[in-house]
Amino acid sequence: MKIGIDIGAQTIKIGTKDKKGDYKIKTGIKTGPDFIKTGEKLKGEIEKSFGRASLAVIGCFGPLDLFKKKVIKAPNLPGWVGISFRGWEKILGCPIILENDANLAIYGEAKVGAGKGYKIVSGFTLGSGVGYGCVMDGKIYHGNWDVEAGHMILDPGGPPCGCGQKGCLEAYISRLAILEKFGKEPHDLQDEKAWDWIAHKIAWGCQLVTVLVKPDTIVLCGGIAQHKGLLEKVQKCYRKMLRIYPKEASETKIVLGKYIEHAGVIGAVELLVSS
Ligand SMILES: [Zn+2]
Repeated sequence: MKIGIDIGAQTIKIGTKDKKGDYKIKTGIKTGPDFIKTGEKLKGEIEKSFGRASLAVIGCFGPLDLFKKKVIKAPNLPGWVGISFRGWEKILGCPIILENDANLAIYGEAKVGAGKGYKIVSGFTLGSGVGYGCVMDGKIYHGNWDVEAGHMILDPGGPPCGCGQKGCLEAYISRLAILEKFGKEPHDLQDEKAWDWIAHKIAWGCQLVTVLVKPDTIVLCGGIAQHKGLLEKVQKCYRKMLRIYPKEASETKIVLGKYIEHAGVIGAVELLVSS
């Protein structure tokens, strides 16, 4: 059985696609501080839900060394820094394809979600961190290492980011950054002025992606993207900011992801289908 796995700092989702083409997804498996123990627990959950794994695509928070299958930084899980998923290949008893979790979320959206049918799909995952992914002609664009556009610097004198830089997009609009600036978790934040400010930062990120990549569409995924009215605010700011193109070329569509919480695991399952 081929298994898609999406690892978050707190929980893990596993999934597969049945013969009818329906996704079977199991959520709520806890991500533990111990990498090996988490792998052993995961093996049990996979066998209980789906049977033995023959191949796994794993999406994990980054930055990652995709070639060595290693986690480079993990601010929320210090015990995972430097670990290699080759260790889990032994535990799960199958080969693992490792991917950046945001790449998989945007891949899922490009294949079967809000970006379906477009040639170049970029997108951000807005949650505990700000992930970025880009799919060109059906393939994830990796650069020569791993693209991390959530860490584009908007202001070098801006607030410190968990990555070590200052003023990254993530340092303004991650869950923690919003909590710090406005004193409320994003899902409790009702101040429309605050959301105008957040929308402006997201639109700024979309403008930068547009001039660098010029995608057909930009998909916004993750819990923060779901705030009512945010998409319209982002679109409005973006249209005001993006002036370099004539009108007919300025219509990069910014859309909401179709799979609110499951885009990552669905992307992992879809990558299995094509591998
Ligand atoms: Zn950063």
